[in-house]
Amino acid sequence: KLYNMVQDLKGNIRVYCRIRPVSPEVQNVIDFIGEDGSLVVIDPKPLKDGKRIFQFNHVFGPSSSQDEVFRDTQSLVRSVMDGYNVCMFAYGQTGSGKTHTMYGPPGGSTKEWGISYLALNDLFKLSDQRRDLTKYEIQVQMVEIYNEQVHDLLAEDSGIRSCMSVNGLALPDATLCPVKSTMDVINLMKLGDMRRSIGSTAINSRSSRSHSILSVHVYGADTSGSMLRSCLHLVDLAGSERVDKSEVTGDGLREAQHINKSLSCLVDVITALAQKNSHIPYRNSKLTLLLQNSLGGNSKTLMLAHVNPEGDSLGETMSTLKFAQKVS
Ligand code: ADP
Ligand code: MG
Repeated sequence: KLYNMVQDLKGNIRVYCRIRPVSPEVQNVIDFIGEDGSLVVIDPKPLKDGKRIFQFNHVFGPSSSQDEVFRDTQSLVRSVMDGYNVCMFAYGQTGSGKTHTMYGPPGGSTKEWGISYLALNDLFKLSDQRRDLTKYEIQVQMVEIYNEQVHDLLAEDSGIRSCMSVNGLALPDATLCPVKSTMDVINLMKLGDMRRSIGSTAINSRSSRSHSILSVHVYGADTSGSMLRSCLHLVDLAGSERVDKSEVTGDGLREAQHINKSLSCLVDVITALAQKNSHIPYRNSKLTLLLQNSLGGNSKTLMLAHVNPEGDSLGETMSTLKFAQKVS
């Protein structure tokens, strides 16, 4: 509770940065990671002093473990049990470690689990400990936004959903599955991944172009009769790299424009929230409409900015860090 009060005073957007490991042979542009959440990037083509300092709520270096990252998100997960809506999203270019942070390697051991599974585990554990809860249920939805269409990954028909009215806690059209354990969710994820891959020749390129959203809905009641309804959105975003439009045509171009739309609208919403603007442009894309109930207002948002420290990625690294810095 005290944590929530402190967060409310500080504003509700937190930004963490995670640097993925790279092999020692390649040039690494991250020069220094401070305990205070600062990060120094060296520019191999120095302009002035050739270095730039960024500051975040926390920076996780290349050797950070899944559990270390999770422990710094745990208070947010716990606030879901206090009725807050929470959104955690992984941002960064393709290959920077977004999926690793959110889910870990496919079929990985519990030690390798990403923060989504660790968060669910924690929610189940917490609900067991809360003796005041007379009723408690967790349901999940899994959707993917691809080419500005919402795909319900848990539907028998893998249907396209309109998701037009999404101001409630659940996406009204997408299948809600009750779950009793983290393994239930992992099995649903496998099913979702299978459905996603049907009809897709290049799964990897699709996954880098689509946004995947795991929504965890918590319903409960306590002994005093008050109701608990909240949700945790866990979002693995499409790659933030700029697609050079001169190089893509046809379907590729359509995809590129759509990625830009949902991602750039999210960037606009987060920026507007960080600047405490009175108008927040939720209605401009499927992604922001869908996440509306967990961005802004009373809800808590965590952006996990991901960086590939290889020299070749410097351009994308700079643009990720600049955006992350702007909203933190
Ligand atoms: P993204 O989802 O951003 O495209 P991935 O999560 O797929 O990136 O990561 C790209 C590759 O790097 C994967 O093979 C992944 O296992 C590896 N990787 C990323 N981050 C880490 C990390 N923190 N520790 C170990 N391996 C990582
Ligand atoms: Mg990925």
